[in-house]
Amino acid sequence: MRFTIPANAKTWVEIDSDTEFPIQNLPFAPFFHAESEQPGAGFRIGNYVFDVMTWTELSPERDAIDLNCFSIFQEEFAAKVSEARKRVYQILSEEANDTVRARARECLVPAESLELWAGVEPRTFVDFYSGIHHASNVGRMFRPDQPPLLPNYRHLPIGYHGRASSVMPSGFDVIRPWGQIKPGDGDPIFTPTRELDFELEMGAWIGIDTDLGEQLSVADAQDAIAGFVLVNDWSARDVQRWEYQPLGPFLAKSFMTSFSEWMVLPDALIGAEVSGIPQEPAPLPYLSHPEPRSYDIQLEVTLQSARMQNPQVIAQSNSKYLYWSFAQQIAHMTSNGTPLCCGDLYASGTISGEEPGTFGSMLELTWRGTQPITLAETGETRTFLEDGDTLTLRGWTMVNGIKIGFGEVSATVLSANPAVAR
Ligand code: MN
Repeated sequence: MRFTIPANAKTWVEIDSDTEFPIQNLPFAPFFHAESEQPGAGFRIGNYVFDVMTWTELSPERDAIDLNCFSIFQEEFAAKVSEARKRVYQILSEEANDTVRARARECLVPAESLELWAGVEPRTFVDFYSGIHHASNVGRMFRPDQPPLLPNYRHLPIGYHGRASSVMPSGFDVIRPWGQIKPGDGDPIFTPTRELDFELEMGAWIGIDTDLGEQLSVADAQDAIAGFVLVNDWSARDVQRWEYQPLGPFLAKSFMTSFSEWMVLPDALIGAEVSGIPQEPAPLPYLSHPEPRSYDIQLEVTLQSARMQNPQVIAQSNSKYLYWSFAQQIAHMTSNGTPLCCGDLYASGTISGEEPGTFGSMLELTWRGTQPITLAETGETRTFLEDGDTLTLRGWTMVNGIKIGFGEVSATVLSANPAVAR
């Protein structure tokens, strides 16, 4: 089902030579047209978006593209979006004839004129914990007298069910949450979090429905993925520390989660695969995954305070540091028979490298606040995020010398709302 667009393919659309959205990428997003408020859905090329819905309206029936733009997360979305991308490639390729080009020009709109993901929410949000270096760092910090990884870590993908209502596309600002914390030996207090953090993650949008009781193999789980995005799993560390035992994260995570708007299809990442971190001991057969198991996607985090003119890179990482693949995570999810829903979003867990400067959270970058980051432009320091800070995640990979980008997920920290009761 997956379709690779040849490395030497060219488009007739005017795009910058260094764009992260060349014709070999064609990532997908649903949207509203800002002026007409009409819904649509389409594929990004350069600074344009090809609207599939307009194409189908303007075309004879035989040329229609089979994608429901009013409600994108319909049955077989993963297969349909892959097929639609293949069609859009043919339409935008320099091989397309003049008739096709003339019709397609009517479908190309500037990306900035669209409200991406307006009115579209995930069905479910799940966050895994597959970044092994992050899990090890957290273990070293919070359980210094024990081995960094808990005994189950290398046997199953750890995860928790999150909250869908606060999963937002890039550009929605994050409001500093209130929460209950326990400072030192004192009594618990209710306060805006003092330890607001980000988590550098990737996410997979699910594009199939399964039945209650159905289990997916790892191979079938790969076909369940409609596309990948960057995810920032905002976290309130002081709230988390107090509330997480014995059931795991709750309000420390659910106030907001951000994702990048352009869903990069697995089709565009063929050629970006790399061997995963060796899995020792070998996983149980239902989790066994042939190599290559991982992707070589470079990840970057920037921070810009309200006083800064330019963002500063504070971390660089790579998706190859995930211990469990997305397919393994999904196969594990369904192993008890819970149904997958088209439109579920599953995130990877924080993706840290092994060296300082490659960590995917402030918690690790500042080693629990003991080693503040200096922002060179203004001399400000940070242990956790302050009001007015803008935090941005970016990701890209190179396939046959061509840049396949994920765009960005960016948000600014707003001060806490007045509380209802203190
Ligand atoms: Mn997380």
